[in-house]
Amino acid sequence: MGRVIGIDLGTSNSCVAVVEDGRPIVIPNSGGYKITPSFFAVSPDGQQLVGYPARRQAITNAANTVFATKRLIGRRFGSAEVQRSMELYSYGIVEGPNEDPRIEIVDRTYTCAEVSGIILGEMKRIAEAYLGDSVEAAVITVPAYFNDTQRQSTRDAGRIAGLDVLRIINEPAAAALAYGMGRDAEEKIAIYDLGGGTFDMSILEMSDGVVEVLATAGDTFLGGEDFDRRIVEHLLAGFEEENGIDLRSDSTAMQRLKDAAEKAKCVLSLRDRTEINLPFIASDGGGARHLSCELRRDELEALVEDIVDETLRSVERCVRDSGLSNEDIDHVVVVGGQSRMPMVQQAVTDYFEQRPHKGVNPDEVVALGAAIQGSALVGGTQDVLLLDVTPLSLGISTYGGHFTRLIDRNTTVPVNKSHLFTTTRDDQAAVKIRVLQGENEVALENDLLGEFVLAGIPPAPKGEPEIEVSFDIDSSGIVSVSARDVATGMEQSITVNSKSTLSAEELELLIEENSLFDVEFKA
Ligand code: ADP
Ligand code: MG
Repeated sequence: MGRVIGIDLGTSNSCVAVVEDGRPIVIPNSGGYKITPSFFAVSPDGQQLVGYPARRQAITNAANTVFATKRLIGRRFGSAEVQRSMELYSYGIVEGPNEDPRIEIVDRTYTCAEVSGIILGEMKRIAEAYLGDSVEAAVITVPAYFNDTQRQSTRDAGRIAGLDVLRIINEPAAAALAYGMGRDAEEKIAIYDLGGGTFDMSILEMSDGVVEVLATAGDTFLGGEDFDRRIVEHLLAGFEEENGIDLRSDSTAMQRLKDAAEKAKCVLSLRDRTEINLPFIASDGGGARHLSCELRRDELEALVEDIVDETLRSVERCVRDSGLSNEDIDHVVVVGGQSRMPMVQQAVTDYFEQRPHKGVNPDEVVALGAAIQGSALVGGTQDVLLLDVTPLSLGISTYGGHFTRLIDRNTTVPVNKSHLFTTTRDDQAAVKIRVLQGENEVALENDLLGEFVLAGIPPAPKGEPEIEVSFDIDSSGIVSVSARDVATGMEQSITVNSKSTLSAEELELLIEENSLFDVEFKA
């Protein structure tokens, strides 16, 4: 096999790395930059643009510039996250045939996996240009807190880009691999990763090249984008108060605001105050209107305080789940662009009562770790082993709409578990297996990954048939499930697939329809 690249496919920026002579290095793009914006656009003359060229023209071509698809991938169109994105983003988001959000721009409609595939394709080309050789295989990172559907869609995106996705690994685990390379001390580390769209928290134990994830927590819809949004809302409200004009429906103005908000936010990581000037942002009977105001660091901090607090709640849960206490943590590593904000640094420092470790580049460490894992998978790098965990509990819906867990969150993967279930009615001929991921006791409140029916169960009193359900989570965190009627040996299985997302209403209907197929734990 040829070279394996590691790709950090970020909400805001992506990064590609490779192992050369036993050392991981980040590959710069043709402009010399080590990170590439996860932007895709179609220009007015029909040209496809990816990365910086797409980002540079975002304001003048707002409706046809796509970004932050990582916030949409693998979600249902009706979800609160997709609806919130539709309010803020100036490109079109429409409902696809599988209730998935799709992106509608000037030339056509794209699935989220396609757009991610275009970005991954660009990262592949960047690597090929550098290596002077074609690249077929990659390890791609995802937030640890991604569920099965989000992982599968990301893997599909890799395939669309023409890559053999050797493995999907979690961003914090990748960061730990890169951080741990060449250190042989036994250490417990906490990784706090606050990027553009997602927040991940992991606690890991490292010794002799073995990186074992003890616990992970996070939020796949919390990141720098939300900080920007708070600033935009603040600016919108101020402008409306002063001028009586609501800019929300003007996509160019919204894109300019978002852009200015992000710039101001970054400046405020270094300074106490900054000016925001957006001339000719609107016009009315009275002529052109300009937006001009000052934003202070303390104002920004007040706008986003609750978001930072929210991340600390995940930190707390993660520490608890790891079975450790704060004092047991030897080092805290802070990753992701948004963690450059002083308030975030301070919150982490206060929480762990120690300063975050400095020696890693927060923009590059995840891609470097992916490259290390890729090299290890093809036998290049010998001395690393990654033992990761599943972020969410996995189970099925049982009689009464209960969520019955088969695999608890934070279980090391790969893992395989099976359990016997039985019927709830006499002569019940079929059972429906609904596979769910989440932490809620109520089945419907979790993510439905997929469902299938095992039919042809011979007539028997309720509670007697033995149906063995096996769950498998592979090293990429991807789920497959099978069910077998022990008496007849008949079997049904699925690799739960990302097309099976259903709306809550549909689910309810199905549950009504299928109460005939209820299934229960076999004592
Ligand atoms: P992702 O991995 O999700 O692509 P990154 O780790 O590249 O995200 O982080 C991008 C986010 O970090 C963006 O929201 C960006 O505005 C924010 N960011 C970058 N630099 C700074 C800074 N100096 N201060 C505050 N936020 C920053
Ligand atoms: Mg990232």
